[in-house]
This record gives sequence, structure tokens and C-alpha cells, in this order.
Amino acid sequence: MSVLERGRATRLGARAGRRLSGWGRTTFSRARVVRASSHDEVVALLGEGERTRDGVLARGAGRSYGDAAQVAGGTVLDLTGLAETIEIDRERKLVRVDAGVTYAQLLARLIPAGLMIPVIPGTRHVTLGGAIASDVHGKNHPVDGSIAGLVEALTLVTPGGCVYELTAESGGELLATTIGGLGLTGVVTSATLRVESLAAPGWLVDTDRTDSLEQTLALMSRDEGHRYNVAWLDLLARGAQSGRAVVTRSRDAQPGELPSDGAPREDLSHASRLTIPPGFPGWVLQPLAIAAFNGLRWRAFPRHERGKPVRAEHHFFPLDGFGAWNRLYGAQGLFQYQFVVGDQHADVLIDAVRLLAARRVPVFLAVLKRLGEADGCPLSFPMPGWTLALDIPAGAAGARQTLDALDERVAQCGGRVYLTKDVRLRRDLLEAMYPELGRFHAARELVDPDGVMRSDLGQRLGLCGPLR
Ligand SMILES: Cc1cc2nc3c(=O)[nH]c(=O)nc-3n(C[C@H](O)[C@H](O)[C@H](O)COP(=O)(O)OP(=O)(O)OC[C@H]3O[C@@H](n4cnc5c(N)ncnc54)[C@H](O)[C@@H]3O)c2cc1C
Repeated sequence: MSVLERGRATRLGARAGRRLSGWGRTTFSRARVVRASSHDEVVALLGEGERTRDGVLARGAGRSYGDAAQVAGGTVLDLTGLAETIEIDRERKLVRVDAGVTYAQLLARLIPAGLMIPVIPGTRHVTLGGAIASDVHGKNHPVDGSIAGLVEALTLVTPGGCVYELTAESGGELLATTIGGLGLTGVVTSATLRVESLAAPGWLVDTDRTDSLEQTLALMSRDEGHRYNVAWLDLLARGAQSGRAVVTRSRDAQPGELPSDGAPREDLSHASRLTIPPGFPGWVLQPLAIAAFNGLRWRAFPRHERGKPVRAEHHFFPLDGFGAWNRLYGAQGLFQYQFVVGDQHADVLIDAVRLLAARRVPVFLAVLKRLGEADGCPLSFPMPGWTLALDIPAGAAGARQTLDALDERVAQCGGRVYLTKDVRLRRDLLEAMYPELGRFHAARELVDPDGVMRSDLGQRLGLCGPLR
């Protein structure tokens, strides 16, 4: 069946289209979903003006939290079937992947080959196309930057079915705007990424338990030669203990540093062993219960531990242990609010934590990281400073108003929120947060003058203008 026939079948089969949301499950909209499994199918679909009139958008694994991967009334191109190619060039340390390949699939090939991709987000179930479109970062951003720095080349299909082969040398503004561009310049069908040698299949972790937010910030500011640096914060602890944390700082193991325990090779391609069922009632997660759990969890870690060897799954993907854990938040879903502020504005971070506590907005999960230099892509999130990611039940009283207030504070001090996780930012704050917005619009205008590439996020924030 051709992509056009399949599209028609999809349209007939799903009268009003499929209901889609981001990982946070707060905002849903309906779209026609067409599954594309080859580059040519993407070109054919984008070349057909009639089909794309109501807007079209690529979607990967749907792991962005907000409304970046959906377009109400339009056509969503599901790219998870475009996942055949993983070509490794060991000599040049490059890998070419189809856009629908996930980190799980890629790592399952790289690690046994003694290779690694240096930028890894907190879940392995995202596609490389989605990762590029969000310009993802890991817990080593100050050292390794975001995925933008790994992109040697990519293939982009734009409205009208035009194909661009963009390289790091000659890709110019279109490449810069596509990386982090949230699918609004076109559809990435494949990419060539830089990888590195993996000295040994493990990481050595230093763990420290802190008693307050101030201690946490002080410890994470120290440069002791770690490559990775992240803290899990307990924001449900009371008073001065709010912001106590488990700080894990780590580095790559070298040959001979890992115990030779004869453990079988790690397989990252498997799904989670436990999955939260659909319809899980949100009321089960109560702040008091989570606070007690956090306390137990915090105490379960050693006060100080040095050089504990861990494998990739535990090091990079602790959240992947449970499948569909977003269902824990029930029908109302969760906000993941991630912002960054410069080092000189750590007070904004501290105030944010205090404001959430004062207004009794429950933060069930909080992760603090450091970010390094920005990469020059106009919609890219990372900039030097502190980034805090907060998981908040969307139905919690006062959550929206408090996050609105935080948006203003973050914008005032030159910080920004991560758009791929956003579902509620006010349009008028966007320019203060992303001052290079003009570059994004200029590049987009050249490849998509009719505003065909659209998303609910793009429409909400004025990133894609009215349909012409
Ligand atoms: C548990 C968890 C942990 C996370 N940890 C991190 C982290 O540590 N660091 C970080 O940076 N992010 C993190 N994220 C966010 C996640 O990495 C990004 O949202 C990523 O974009 C999701 O990829 P996806 O394949 O699910 O894309 P989707 O959610 O399907 O789409 C995301 C965006 O990419 C666009 N897109 C998707 N595929 C393509 C394509 N082929 N061509 C053009 N545009 C495309 C979509 O239109 C959309 O705008 C995390 C998310 C979760 C759920």
C-alpha cells in the first residue's frame, strides 16, 4: 500500500483522526496519523499540497511532555516505522541512522561495538529525529554540549517535497534552525552523528547525600573532574531540608576498572519490565505518601560513596525501569516544568523552590543539572547555568498560577523554559526567553512560506503563524 493509499485508509478508519498528547498527557488534540516507513513516503506526502493543507508535523516516540508533537486537525507523520538503517563507520566514528531509530536501538548496536554516543537524554525510548528536533542534552552538557554538536549531516524534507542534504560545514541557518526547531522546518528522515570509543562498558559513580538546597548547589558547583553531574532533589521535605538531594557525579570507566563479574552483556533494547496499566487512578499519588517515599529513598543512599561501578541502564535511564509511568498521574496528567537560569541567578532557582513550597504545589520529582555553552541554534534550550526539571501533577491546586509566576521570573532574568516540555507558556514571554527568534522565522519562511509545518505548540506560541 502506498503512503497515499495508507493515508486514505487511515482517514477512513479513524473518522475524526487519532487523539494525541505528549508524555505529560495534559492537552489532547486529534489529527490524521499517517505512518511513514521510508524517506520516499515522506517526500511523497509532503509533496502533496492537498494532503498537507491543514498542517503537517513529524512525530517520533511522543516522549516530549507537552504539545510539540501534535497538530489539531492536521496530519501527523508517525516516523517510528522509519527505523531500518543503523550504519556504523568505525574508522571515522560516525553512525548514520534513520530518524525513527530510538536511542535504545542505537545503543544496543553501539555498546557491543565498543562505541558510545556522547549525548544521552534521560530516557532511551526517544527517536533520534525527535532528539535532534529538541536538541536534547544529557547530564554532561557542560563537557559535551547537546546533540547539535554531534550532527555531521542530516536529510530534511520540506513542504513541496524538497529534499535538503545539510552538513555541519554547509548546512547554515537551515541546519541551525532544524536542530531544536521542533519539527517546524520540515521532516528529518536520517542523520549522521559523531560517536566515540567506549573504553569500558561501565561508569564510576560518586554519590553524596546533602541536607539542604544550599549544600546541593555548593557540591554541584565544585569541579572535581567528573563528566556527568546530576542531583535528585527532595522538594517535599519540610523547611530547611527542602532541596536536600542525592548528588551523583560520575565518569567513564577505563579498562581494568570494572569488576570482572562475568555479568552478561547489557541489552538495552528491551522494554520496561513493569508497566503502569491504563486508567491508573491519579488520587493514589498523594503528596504525603510521596513525601514519605522520598524520605525513605533519600536515606537509602549512602552519605558518601566513591567510584561505584554501574552499567548504562542504571547510569543513564533510571526512569525507564517502569513503562508508561506517566499514567501514575491519572487522567489529569503532569506538567514537566524545566527551566534554566544563569549562574548569577541561582537566587531565582532558590526562590522557585520556596514559592512552590509556600503555595503547597507538590513536586513529585525534581532533577537539577548544570548546563554549559549554548550551541547557536535559535530555539535550542541549553544556555550556561542551572536547569531544574520539576514533575507536578497538573490537577494540583495552584499549579498553573505558580508556574505562570515562575515563567515571568525566569524570563526577567534572561532564563528560559524548555519548549519540548512546555504546554502552557504565554506567547508574550517567548521572545525574552529566546531572543534569536527572528533567525528561526527567517529560515522557516524560506522553506515553508505557506506555513504548512505546524504544531499545537507552534500555534500557541506563534512559531508558525496563521495558515495561508
Ligand atoms: C522520561 C524522560 C526523560 C527525558 N530526559 C531528557 C533529557 O535528559 N534531556 C533532554 O534534552 N530531553 C529529555 N526528555 C525529552 C525528550 O528527549 C524530547 O522531548 C525528545 O524530543 C523526544 O523524542 P521523541 O522521539 O519522543 O519525539 P516526539 O515527542 O514525538 O517529538 C518531539 C518534537 O520533535 C519533532 N520531531 C520528531 N521527529 C522528528 C523528525 N523526524 N523530524 C523533524 N521533527 C521531528 C516533533 O514534531 C516534536 O516537535 C525526556 C523525556 C522523558 C519522557
